[in-house]
Amino acid sequence: MIPVAMPVMGEAEAEAARRAILSGWITQGPEVAAFEQAFASYVGAPHACAVSNCTTALHLALRVAGVQAGDEVITVSHSFIATANAVRYCGAVPVFVDIEPGSFNLDPARIEAAITDRTRAILCVHQMGLPCDLQRLVEIGHRHGLVVIEDAACAIGSEIAWQGEWQPIGRPHGDVACFSLHPRKVISTGEGGMLTTRRADWDRQYRLLRQHAMSVPDSVRHGADQVIFETYPTLGYNYRMTDIQAAVGREQLKRLPEIVARRRHLAAQYARQLAGIDGLGMPQEPAWARSNWQSYCVRLPARCDQRAVMQSLLDAGISTRRGIMCSHREPACRDVALTQPLPHSEAAQDHAILLPLYPQLTAQDQQRVVSALARACGVCALPTPESAQPVE
Ligand SMILES: *Cc1c(COP(=O)(O)O)cnc(C)c1O
Repeated sequence: MIPVAMPVMGEAEAEAARRAILSGWITQGPEVAAFEQAFASYVGAPHACAVSNCTTALHLALRVAGVQAGDEVITVSHSFIATANAVRYCGAVPVFVDIEPGSFNLDPARIEAAITDRTRAILCVHQMGLPCDLQRLVEIGHRHGLVVIEDAACAIGSEIAWQGEWQPIGRPHGDVACFSLHPRKVISTGEGGMLTTRRADWDRQYRLLRQHAMSVPDSVRHGADQVIFETYPTLGYNYRMTDIQAAVGREQLKRLPEIVARRRHLAAQYARQLAGIDGLGMPQEPAWARSNWQSYCVRLPARCDQRAVMQSLLDAGISTRRGIMCSHREPACRDVALTQPLPHSEAAQDHAILLPLYPQLTAQDQQRVVSALARACGVCALPTPESAQPVE
């Protein structure tokens, strides 16, 4: 069976977890601090704050940005439901904007029509690891006094051309970026999340709120030579990451460059091999973006039924997933009113599928996926990449 995704974990991670377990400090301690530092330095951010997952990271990002009950946040429906849910945790209203069909990312041209006097923030998603058009989003944000929050759940290791150089997602280019370390993403700590920002005051707020808004953290009281009584100045949460997770995360970060390079190689292979399937829509990478290929998403030819193609692949021992969900179609979001139609979001959910892509995928596995997809799409004989070359 070829799964759709697989984390890369080995002895180094197991050894790191063991080290943390035997250290005597197993949550939000020295391993978390070291992981935050390594993460900040990887993405080039002044501050990185570790939390329990990306959904809680998004919640903190929105709350600290001042998003309150009744406010509006411009975002996409075409995302994992956590994006919209985090807005709703604040009592705010997600205002769904459609995506660009080529990139599967929020269409900047549709934002300004959605802005009202209650809009507080733009929550953009680097969907499947492909950076959104941050240049335009940040410009729109500035012009309208809106905070730009990046849902970078899938985008660790992705890059964007910025001021003449390639920069990692998470510097951040908006005001704050939120990452996920769930096993379905490119690196993992089991569960985990990270917020990166340039703003020291926001970072302090994240640290306060992630641990019950406790004025003096237990780690500080532990090291003090005087008795300290902490206070709780505001409503906080338990969004902590454990030191066991952070120790694993430090090892995962070391592997990240190699993982991303391998994913890019596999994506390039797919692009070459799938070109022979007539009518198949291939993922597009703009000249100013480099994806980490967290997912490889193809649009099926119009003649194909999504479920039938997925079943045919499953029968051939190959796992796939349908296109990214649309939150507005879920009963959980039935109270969220649509202010514009979302035809591209819906089409992407209904006519795209995600193919297996993970570093351990072999060339033979990939050939099997390509052949099975070609068969399922009604292509009898797929030219091999060699014979696909134009004949003189
Ligand atoms: C996975 C994902 C999340 C949620 O991340 P968790 O760490 O599972 O909370 C949020 N947004 C997007 C776009 C995601 O893909």
